[in-house]
Amino acid sequence: MAEIRLENVSKSFGSAKIIEHLNLTIQDGSFTVLLGPSGCGKTTLLRMIAGIGPATSGKIYMDGEDISDVPPGKRNVAMVFQNYAIYPTMSVRENIEFCLKNNKVPKKERTERVERVAETVGLKEYLGRRPSELSGGQRQRVALARAMVKEPAVFLMDEPLSNLDAKLRLAMRSELIQLHEQLKTTFIYVTHDQMESMAMADQIVLMDQGTIMQQAAPEVIYHDPDNIFTAQFIGMPPANILELPGQAGSIGFRPERVKLNAGREKTGFRRRGKILTRELLGAEVQYKIQIPEGVVMVRSQELSFRAGDMAEIFSDREDLYFFDCQGKRIRK
Ligand code: ATP
Repeated sequence: MAEIRLENVSKSFGSAKIIEHLNLTIQDGSFTVLLGPSGCGKTTLLRMIAGIGPATSGKIYMDGEDISDVPPGKRNVAMVFQNYAIYPTMSVRENIEFCLKNNKVPKKERTERVERVAETVGLKEYLGRRPSELSGGQRQRVALARAMVKEPAVFLMDEPLSNLDAKLRLAMRSELIQLHEQLKTTFIYVTHDQMESMAMADQIVLMDQGTIMQQAAPEVIYHDPDNIFTAQFIGMPPANILELPGQAGSIGFRPERVKLNAGREKTGFRRRGKILTRELLGAEVQYKIQIPEGVVMVRSQELSFRAGDMAEIFSDREDLYFFDCQGKRIRK
């Protein structure tokens, strides 16, 4: 197990400054997800922790020890990539065993470790097969097993599920959560999928343009965003953000925290509007509603409204967020 700490880390590619003066602590044993839009620097950050894309400046510590100049092979981390990076000409067993052989681990121990890991990820019956004889999900398991067999202090995963179809992705997602529970090792996982981050992480590091917008547990990121970026990146559909005439800054509320034609007893944000569209989601409906300040999205279990109807939206005072002109949350 290990805590990772980045101190004043910057990374440039030529004149392009991708990450500037970033400070981040990743707790020992956490399942930390680096989340953010494409190009925000997640992979760059992960590669710096792995040691395969060194920082331009700053320090990286593992359990208090400066590892900034330690080569990747000596960092006690293992990386799982999106494209699996498994050897097509080797069997599953040989793939998993590869790094142990390189490190001159004795045969008996090698066999034991390979079989134990294969058992954990459900590959025991497939050890003799070649990668081409496996499904996508099984190949992903081989990649995972190759990382696990090293018994690293930190697992680094770069969108490891993105090549899988939706159903398998969900299955592997819960397997990874289970694996983390079992190993209790630090997992650092990169994704741009906010749903995936919510489901898996115990800590989310939300990034934009090389900076950290918020680092917190998923519940906090969802219920208590620090800024407009976070409120809009998380949630499906994103939080409604409205500028009110005569006010500096804006207000926000989540589509699922809106009541339609509610009673008048509470205080909050209340507007009459026209329903523009209605999309049935199953047990809920998503409405797009035109109010004087703009268009808002609403998710409701009230199914009876139709496009063209008038309705009153209401969001409780407690569910409203206030932001200043820079998009930073004003906490009242
Ligand atoms: P994605 O979700 O699309 O993988 P990301 O958040 O992981 O994105 P990075 O791969 O870290 O983003 O890239 C961050 C920025 O750095 C991008 O603008 C990218 O074009 C740039 N970049 C990454 N690697 C290099 C490189 N080797 N040379 C030049 N620019 C690079």
